[in-house]
Amino acid sequence: MPIYEYTCTSCRRLTSTLVRNIAAEAAPPCQHCGGRTTRALSRFAYHKSEQRVLEEHGALPRTPEEYHDPRQIGRWVEKRFDDYGMELPQEARTMIDAAREGELPDAVKDL
Ligand SMILES: [Zn+2]
Repeated sequence: MPIYEYTCTSCRRLTSTLVRNIAAEAAPPCQHCGGRTTRALSRFAYHKSEQRVLEEHGALPRTPEEYHDPRQIGRWVEKRFDDYGMELPQEARTMIDAAREGELPDAVKDL
């Protein structure tokens, strides 16, 4: 699962986020000041283990079975949008629903 970092356009600090579904990606607000962010390329982000980032985001599935449960697909994305008080884009909503029906969009198959 790729980890993306975003640079705040106001305070210049980094916000890192895990992206489960590239198609559902939206730049998150700055976690420091709530400002707008733009995608940053970061070497540092890739040195954090996926496990650690998942723990930090509280999104770690408890069991492998739960991880592979199709109903879990998109849950993290939903939670993220919810955390930010943003509405999930319709495109992402459609894709997540389709994936839960067992129909994986191309962007997810590659992960
Ligand atoms: Zn900021």
